[in-house]
Amino acid sequence: MSGLTGAERAARGRRARALVPALREQGVDGIVLSFVDTAGINRIKAVPVDRLERSAAWGTGMSPVFDTFLSNDVPVRTDDLGSPDGDVRLVPDLDGLVVLSAQPGWAWAPVDRYTQEGEPYVACQRRFAAAMVERARAAGVTLRAAFEIEWAVGRGDGDEFVPACLGPAYGMTRLVELSDYSRDVLGALQEEGLDVEQLHPEYSDGQYEVSVAAADPVTAADRSVLVRQTIRAVSAQHGLRASFAPSVIAGHVGNGGHLHLSPWRDGRNLLAGGDLRYAMTRDGESFVGGVLAHLPALMAIGAPTPASYLRLQPSHWAGVYACWGRETRETAVRLVTGSTGERADAANVEVKCIDLAANPYLLVGCVLAAGLAGLADTAPLPEETVDDPALLDDAERDARGIERLPTSLGDAVDAFAADDALREALGRPLADAVVAVRRGEIDRFADASPEDVVAALRWTY
Ligand code: GLU
Ligand code: MG
Repeated sequence: MSGLTGAERAARGRRARALVPALREQGVDGIVLSFVDTAGINRIKAVPVDRLERSAAWGTGMSPVFDTFLSNDVPVRTDDLGSPDGDVRLVPDLDGLVVLSAQPGWAWAPVDRYTQEGEPYVACQRRFAAAMVERARAAGVTLRAAFEIEWAVGRGDGDEFVPACLGPAYGMTRLVELSDYSRDVLGALQEEGLDVEQLHPEYSDGQYEVSVAAADPVTAADRSVLVRQTIRAVSAQHGLRASFAPSVIAGHVGNGGHLHLSPWRDGRNLLAGGDLRYAMTRDGESFVGGVLAHLPALMAIGAPTPASYLRLQPSHWAGVYACWGRETRETAVRLVTGSTGERADAANVEVKCIDLAANPYLLVGCVLAAGLAGLADTAPLPEETVDDPALLDDAERDARGIERLPTSLGDAVDAFAADDALREALGRPLADAVVAVRRGEIDRFADASPEDVVAALRWTY
């Protein structure tokens, strides 16, 4: 993302103006300008459709203070960020503009953030993700990525969680009970042009999951935001509430936000067609080895709240051990090979120890940075883990080099603070913001019981 020149502003403005008649025809009155802050909160401004041209060219102003807001809107500070001074410009990416199917009259666009001088804003998380995509491109690698979205559907007026459907995991009973709702979720996502791969009732009370097709990493992060807000809106239309929080009921299986990623070079998937384990290439193994090596630090990005660590229990499919396995749903990194005949296209790695409180732009950028560091160093990929590592005793896990990932946000932040590769990739303003915001969340919940943590964050994300 380079600076905005006068010519570029003019071109953006013209393009926006050309889009407005069709938006009006579709009944659009307002455009939501969307970004996600360091705490993982989707923050927005909205402009009338007539202002889209100006916003596309000049951006819409917003305080930079949100980059160090906690999830309860309390600000913290770093050396670079958190001051009430200044103005950043929210510049909609018109390629991502979507008419919202479950919010009549509204369209939505992800924004890149710029300074008033037209320079990329240092704490723009979407710019960071794009910069890591560019770093990969410079190394000859392109990526395909997708986030899985899990949520719990609740009913009732209060803030308690009352599951909106009962019955077994993956059970047809749930789909029967929420038949219209489920159809409307599918329909709304497809109407927005999203390529839905599947929807199913998940394990936990009232829990559902949806997957959309892989895309480039920045688009995948955009979709993670759009899919969730669309599900939230469909839920509201049905008098229901969607919780994307890592833990919805303390002690139960939580909501994951697993990230699938495949690195490609010269049109070839590096996780297929090679002569190493499961046909991975040398570069493919190194990429996965890099992700694995940086996982403890990545948790500060991907499991960013104290509630995340309530979800991260052994044998809960959340991947709490730093190891990998083919189609192993209890390893933090699952190698998905796909079926014979489609592997060249389908093979990918799934990072499981992360949730939807994470900022998807920071997350995809950091996972990419870790993979690329592995690739540059020809990182080794250890022995595969088969079956649930929780079934091994400590001595066996030690002998196999399988470590438990951080069990608290504090441990994850310490790992992140010591990870030079991730800090360098993020740059000081964003890296310091991550540390400050996570420490702020830790302080906020220092004396809270698991039930209090869950209750405070259940409807936040
Ligand atoms: N809900 C599980 C989690 O917390 C994931 C279940 C699955 O494997 O999809 O990550
Ligand atoms: Mg799932």
